[in-house]
Order: sequence, then C-alpha cells, then structure tokens
Amino acid sequence: MYNLKKIFLAAIVACITILGISFFAVRRHSTHHTATPLFHHNIQQLKELCYAKYRQSIRFMAYANHAMRDSMPTTAALFHAMARADAIHLSNCRHAIEALGGRVSLPIITPTTFSHSVAHLENALSSKWQTHYEHMPAYITQALADNNRYVARMLTWCDACDAKQILLLRQILNDSVHHKYHFHVCPTCGDITWEEVRTRHCPQCMTESEKFFVIEPTAR
Ligand SMILES: [Zn+2]
Repeated sequence: MYNLKKIFLAAIVACITILGISFFAVRRHSTHHTATPLFHHNIQQLKELCYAKYRQSIRFMAYANHAMRDSMPTTAALFHAMARADAIHLSNCRHAIEALGGRVSLPIITPTTFSHSVAHLENALSSKWQTHYEHMPAYITQALADNNRYVARMLTWCDACDAKQILLLRQILNDSVHHKYHFHVCPTCGDITWEEVRTRHCPQCMTESEKFFVIEPTAR
C-alpha cells in the first residue's frame, strides 16, 4: 500500500514536470516568433515605401493645384495622375503589410512648401529617381529571395510606374510635350498611360481600360 502511494506521487510529480517543461517550451517559441516575424525585412521595406508613397501622393496633389495657378495644364494633369498612382501604390503596400501580419501607421506630413512649377517638376524627378534606383531594386530582390511573389509583383508594378513617371517628368522638363496629354491611371496597379499607348487592358494587371481614372489637362 505504502509503495503504491509512492508510485502514485512519483507519477503526479512526473506529469507536473512534463507539463511545466512543455509550457515553457511553447512560451519560448511563441515569444521568439513575435520578436522575429516571417518576412520581417519585407515588412520594414514596405513600411518605408508606404511613407515615401504617402509623402509623394500628398505633395504631388498640392503641386497639381499649384501648376494650374501657373497656367501649366499638362504639368497639372501629370502631377494629378502621379498623386493618384502613388495613392494606389500606398494602398497596395498597406494591404501587403497586413497580409504579412504587420501594421503601419502613417506619419504626420509637414506642409508642402511651394516654388515655381518647374522646380516642383525637378523635385518630383529627384524623388522618383531615388525611389526607383536606390530603394526598389533591394526591395524586389528581398521579396524574391523570400519567395514572396505576391509582394515582388506588387513592388514591380510600383517600380514600372515610377520608371514611366521619370520618363514623363523628363519630357515635360525638356519641353518635348507638344500636345495635351489625357492621362489614364489603372485603379489596380497605378500604371499611367495616355491616348497613344492606350490598350484594352492594363499591360501590367489586365484591368479593363473602362475602369481607368481619366485625368484631363484642365482637371483639378
Ligand atoms: Zn493595372
């Protein structure tokens, strides 16, 4: 009888020990998981891109309104299209961050300071150049290294759009735009097209062109 009691107590102690070890093992794993989430680098890079797109979107809309006052309707239309495209990129970035388990809070933006619209075009070109050449290659490389094709594709949409915006900004700065563009912005990927290169579907994401936002040179 006495031996049975000892065996029973030993079994209880053994069970408690095993439960305790399991509890701390699970807790340690859980803590480690929270500290280093999957796609950690991608989330950090997407946040940086979110902030850049947010700043650009607000600034370009302000520049569009200013260009109207400078009687530069094509420049105003381009800034308006760029603001719309960057807002779409921002939205896509936020969705990607949330899909990866992260969160983003947008920063407070300092008020835009104004100069002449030509200076605004040069500022925008510099900003787009920096995003396209200094940041995006590393971001896309990281997404591909993580085998995260969803993020890589979304980033490639942004990058292709930025490359096109650089081209359009240069053309306007070189005064090689001799007619008024009607810009079309894809609501899914933010791609900017115009009448001469318009196709039935977006060349990047296959959205029907009937759904594009149309921005005319006189539009505010
Ligand atoms: Zn598209």
